Amino acid sequence: MAEYDIVVAGGGPAGLQFAREVGYASEYSVAVLERNDSLADNDKSTGGTFHQVVDGFDIPDHVVMDDSPDVIFEGPEAHARLDIPNYVLDFPKFLEYLGEDAERQGVEIVTGAEVTGPIQENGTVVGVETRHNGSTKETYGDVVVDATGPAGALTTRLGMWDRSAAQRGIGKEFEAVGEFDPDSMLFKFDHEYAPGGYAWVFPAGDDAFKVGVCWVNDFYRRHRPPDDGGIDSYVRKWIDSDSRWDIDEIRDVHAGQAISDNSINQRATDGMVAVGDAVSSINPLFGEGIRPGMESAEMAADVVMDALRRGDTSRRVLSAYEKRWNREKGPKWKTQRMVGELLYDFNAEQQDGFVRRAGRLSTEQADRLQRYELTVTDLLSLYPFKLKDVPKAPTLLRHVW
Ligand SMILES: Cc1cc2nc3c(=O)[nH]c(=O)nc-3n(C[C@H](O)[C@H](O)[C@H](O)COP(=O)(O)OP(=O)(O)OC[C@H]3O[C@@H](n4cnc5c(N)ncnc54)[C@H](O)[C@@H]3O)c2cc1C
Repeated sequence: MAEYDIVVAGGGPAGLQFAREVGYASEYSVAVLERNDSLADNDKSTGGTFHQVVDGFDIPDHVVMDDSPDVIFEGPEAHARLDIPNYVLDFPKFLEYLGEDAERQGVEIVTGAEVTGPIQENGTVVGVETRHNGSTKETYGDVVVDATGPAGALTTRLGMWDRSAAQRGIGKEFEAVGEFDPDSMLFKFDHEYAPGGYAWVFPAGDDAFKVGVCWVNDFYRRHRPPDDGGIDSYVRKWIDSDSRWDIDEIRDVHAGQAISDNSINQRATDGMVAVGDAVSSINPLFGEGIRPGMESAEMAADVVMDALRRGDTSRRVLSAYEKRWNREKGPKWKTQRMVGELLYDFNAEQQDGFVRRAGRLSTEQADRLQRYELTVTDLLSLYPFKLKDVPKAPTLLRHVW
């Protein structure tokens, strides 16, 4: 049996940032329990992100593979450049850095430790059970943090997050070496290459780039041809058919799934909070999850440290985090879910219309798009309205209320 002030389940961006926040700001003892044998084994993500992560969370240059001043949107025919500076991280190296930095602040990182469930006393979470090196262990903490990503190892067991209304998606990418110099992050909205989702190519250092495809399962089923070969065949098709590159080698493959809703979920219970994708902090429009996961960790860490100082880790105190998230992010995430429902169901003409309109956004509007702060006027200017969309109104409104 081990005891800490705080036990974090899961060593992804959200759990590790939570540990860093507490490590830098306090003397509380923190353990991060990660089921993989190494933090770097979590290599699903493309690592595309923005200055709020790199500057806001002090991420060093050696884990940044590339950066570019703008984003390109493509439709089946249309092409537009948006003034949105961005970064591409080496995701496994980024996680290693977060872990090492947390350790320098006194955090204990335990790998190969799978959290199998919460330990509760009188309804309060007081620790977790883990499977470690073939044996079962108990680890106790005054506060437990679920940061286990889409698995939601604790939130699902405690019934804190009902996933029935969530949308599910998958993504797969190849990291390629060859001749092509994408000077921007590129997103392609075209059902031929990514039915019900988007395809992307992100720069990844000298002569290297990441090419991938993702979709929302519901929209994939509506837009796919009957006899396709699954996500692998779409990535290969793009790689083989686009004359802009000449690929020498595929040096890595990354893949994973995402589960997202409007993020208004229970984030705190007695003795526990949840951060990152364990409680669907991922943004439902483009599936950006690193920045929101780390932001949720920052918000939660402030509240948890305050609760420990007060000696009261009940839901009454910890729910200050949930309230802050719901106030600051909730309304934006609801709108993004609605925009996503439209975007991934557009026909080819609408995809091109959306791309052309996006290309007309001002620098200020592009910045609001990056921050998920588009106004109603911005959104209307982006939307290529068709009469066929009218019957969708009740479904869309469900995401607003
Ligand atoms: C293909 C793909 C591409 C993506 N590209 C981007 C991108 O370009 N930019 C972006 O911002 N986001 C991207 N995302 C989303 C982003 O990666 C996630 O939203 C983000 O990693 C969430 O962070 P997290 O810490 O909440 O969860 P995770 O990164 O999922 O980390 C959770 C950790 O918990 C561990 N764990 C799980 N269960 C247990 C358990 N029972 N016990 C102990 N440990 C456990 C896991 O091994 C993992 O290390 C992408 C996702 C996918 C699938």
